[in-house]
Amino acid sequence: MTLARLKHIQYVKNVDDATSRQSFEYWLSEHLRLNGMYWGVMALVGLKSLDTLPKPQVIEYVLSCYDAKSGGFGAYPQHDGHILSTLSGLQILLIYDSLHTIDDKRAQITKFIKDLQLPDGSFQGDSYGEVDTRFVYNAVSSLSILGQLTEDVVERASQFLVRCENFDGSYGMEPGAESHAAQVFTVVGALAIMDKLHLVKHDKLATWLSERQVKEGGFNGRPEKLPDSCYSWWVLSPLTILGHQNWVDLARLGDFILGCQDEEIGGFSDRKDNQTDIYHTCFAIMGLSLADHELYDLEAIDPVYCMPYSATQKIQKWPYAGRE
Ligand SMILES: [Zn+2]
Repeated sequence: MTLARLKHIQYVKNVDDATSRQSFEYWLSEHLRLNGMYWGVMALVGLKSLDTLPKPQVIEYVLSCYDAKSGGFGAYPQHDGHILSTLSGLQILLIYDSLHTIDDKRAQITKFIKDLQLPDGSFQGDSYGEVDTRFVYNAVSSLSILGQLTEDVVERASQFLVRCENFDGSYGMEPGAESHAAQVFTVVGALAIMDKLHLVKHDKLATWLSERQVKEGGFNGRPEKLPDSCYSWWVLSPLTILGHQNWVDLARLGDFILGCQDEEIGGFSDRKDNQTDIYHTCFAIMGLSLADHELYDLEAIDPVYCMPYSATQKIQKWPYAGRE
């Protein structure tokens, strides 16, 4: 089976509203959720077709989601800032080489993120919200993109992530919570950004991750669950960061992912013959790229940041030289 490349590009341009098939331009005017926009952008980056989106309108839309009151980006214009949409906004700006458009907001965005860290090192999503290892990743990745990681943030955040480790070497969303592959990506990605990968039980965790591959070739998120195309990314990215991507059968994974594509209208679903959506389209393509970007003629993706290397090579990596 081959990648229905042109169909997928068209699918992202028409976003995932199967009933109305609206264009991306229409969605921009109708307030596309900021992380939904990131998924669309990354799907096109993976397909080496980012130029199919109108860059000025994308940047303008991202900036319109900035919430001056909180200092972060909201999911839509006029919404309160949240850590999830703040990372999406920064990622899109970096991918489009447009971080300079927020030069006058960097201090406020940095303060917004750092103020969300609790004394135990965890992060809230916003000033009301719950705590989740996802938010630690969002905060650490955002601060890294801004070049604003500091020793106090790194020490407390990494200690919190260590407390989320389970007996199986894997991680849950908070201390004592069940191991889950999506959380593993956020923990390993955050620790990689903070130069703390020595805190991970490498072989034990890589074994748990490689056991996520099921007989269909795809990955599940937890033992006994069905495979799902998005776990291609959540499982393979930490395995790649740990240097153990060859502990799974990448060819069979690729076949499973291709089996999840809609060859008629484009897009990917979680499993064969299910309804496609932009989220699974993004992470199925990301998984295929990690599995073998040359074979599928996809852009190479940085497993730590979930952005193309052309973008992440512009990030100043921690530890910053000459820090106190
Ligand atoms: Zn999924």
